[in-house]
Amino acid sequence: MAFRDVSKEAFIGTVTLGVIFTAGYVFGKKRPFRMNCGKSHGSNGDNNPLMQYILRHSMREHPALANLREKTLEHDRNVMMVSCEQSQFMANLARLIKSKKAIEIGVYTGYNTLSIALALADDGVIVACDVNEKYANVGKPFWKAAGVEKKIDLRIQPALTTLDELLAAGEAETFDFVFIDADKVNYDAYYEKSLQLIRKGGIIAIDNVLWGGSVLNPSPNDLSTVAIDKLNKKLHRDTRINLSMLTVGDGLTLAFKL
Ligand code: SAM
Ligand code: CA
Repeated sequence: MAFRDVSKEAFIGTVTLGVIFTAGYVFGKKRPFRMNCGKSHGSNGDNNPLMQYILRHSMREHPALANLREKTLEHDRNVMMVSCEQSQFMANLARLIKSKKAIEIGVYTGYNTLSIALALADDGVIVACDVNEKYANVGKPFWKAAGVEKKIDLRIQPALTTLDELLAAGEAETFDFVFIDADKVNYDAYYEKSLQLIRKGGIIAIDNVLWGGSVLNPSPNDLSTVAIDKLNKKLHRDTRINLSMLTVGDGLTLAFKL
């Protein structure tokens, strides 16, 4: 195709992407890609050359997401933040199935909420469930900077209450994508309500399904591990879904509603 055949928009887009990737390559060489993943699970990603290679060669973070990641790293509970490559993967899944309606159960500073909001259709919405507004307040300026704050419906109350409200409002089988990442003892209840809310072909992503490896030998007193292990076993037998258990982050199960 001759150069003159390329539309102005395609030309500007290509040049812009080129500048972003060149800058990312140059600066990425000097400065490690700072991340939280690994810190809570034994390996420090900042010093892991292969992880740095993966991030430098795959991350296409929106500037507001990069800024929110950096801001969250200053926070004392930053190990709770999802890893950026996992978040990008989930956003790509949400985009692939043309998601309009999503739910995040456990928002924290809203890195993943923002990532999914950016992947939704222009008239899409993500219902963001958390009990702690202080955490979400860290993310709000970045949601606004990205221009998607209207797509984020933040509900500060126990997530089970919000899910029940959505069901009572007649929204069963209308959601495309759910990310479960709040208190682990309620995981089974979150899963069952999400399964009612999601449409056929929709995806429920369940985080921390390996729980740092403790699922291999759950202690009866460790209620989080017991709950995760019980759900993992139930999902394996669950004929209402297809599933994959991935080793990304601290383990991520994808349940595809049949
Ligand atoms: N998904 C977030 C991200 O991608 O960065 C991380 C979520 S963090 C691991 C867990 C969150 O769940 C915390 O912000 C906590 O306040 C919230 N949480 C705990 N119990 C909850 C409940 N019963 N209902 C709603 N949110 C809850
Ligand atoms: Ca998590």
